[in-house]
Amino acid sequence: MKTFKIAIDGPAGVGKSSTAKAVAKKLGFVYVDTGAMYRSVGVYCLDNNLQPEEVVPHLDKISIDMKYIDDIQYVYLNGEDVTKKIRTPEGSIYASKVAVIKEVREKLVSLQQQMGMHNNVVMDGRDIGNRVFPDADAKIFLTASAEKRAERRFNELNGTVPYDEILNDIKFRDKNDSTRKIDPLRPSSDSVIVDNSDMTLEETILHIYNICIERIEK
Ligand code: C5P
Repeated sequence: MKTFKIAIDGPAGVGKSSTAKAVAKKLGFVYVDTGAMYRSVGVYCLDNNLQPEEVVPHLDKISIDMKYIDDIQYVYLNGEDVTKKIRTPEGSIYASKVAVIKEVREKLVSLQQQMGMHNNVVMDGRDIGNRVFPDADAKIFLTASAEKRAERRFNELNGTVPYDEILNDIKFRDKNDSTRKIDPLRPSSDSVIVDNSDMTLEETILHIYNICIERIEK
């Protein structure tokens, strides 16, 4: 059976998850948040006092599940609800650190590919168009300036985390994600680049939905 695959890649804080989730809902596809999977491996390290590179022999013991209840995503790491833990600033940094490890990427990419074999999916991440689904039906590279992304996240967190801390975290992750040796963050030659610095979330969703519909109906 042919399944449709929509790849949405882009840097931290650009609104990929909110956009991808809404586009998936409009299309009736399954939304897969691959960042949550890297974050879960990061939390496993934090919980077990492991340096990121020490996680490799533990990979077979790590299971990650994602469930949606009333449109809210819950993430389980070996059965424990880590939905909140994976979103802490420490969780973000650790996600980015484990994401440079070849064995971690191999495990998570293979899980993601299996999800796309059985479902129509909208998947967001950093390497979906280049690595996970090079044959995706539509590839979107969503981007915006680092300052704009930090401003949005600052507002989302209701000012509870200082703006400068958020901006530094975004810059750290941008650098780490785009300069790593394996599957760095970069648009593939066949992706549509969407800069949403001056777009609302609703405008971004509609714009990307229209691109997807055009590709699916071809
Ligand atoms: O998307 P999110 O910000 O939740 O991702 C957390 C981290 O996981 C990213 O900074 C990146 O290092 C890593 N990641 C990745 N490849 C993906 C998704 C996320 O390397 N497909």
